[in-house]
Amino acid sequence: MQRMITEQPPIIPCSKGHAARHMLDLRRPSAGGGHSVECACSTTARHLIFEEAHAEWCLMHGQRAPIRRPPAKRSVFPSELAQLQLSL
Ligand SMILES: [Zn+2]
Repeated sequence: MQRMITEQPPIIPCSKGHAARHMLDLRRPSAGGGHSVECACSTTARHLIFEEAHAEWCLMHGQRAPIRRPPAKRSVFPSELAQLQLSL
């Protein structure tokens, strides 16, 4: 089952000028569900979140990808942890 979601602000048209639609397939991802963006001539793959589908759409049509916050830096070890000099 698919439904169309109206985005505000609207998704940019494709490179040929077709209006773009955000589609949500309500099936489980393993059954082919997810978010996609489509127009009369093209469609993205299904994604778990709309932002990923939107980013693919922008790349497909040569538009600048939407600004996303960079992921926070994560490190496994604190930087002040001394490196042990191991030798045989
Ligand atoms: Zn199009």
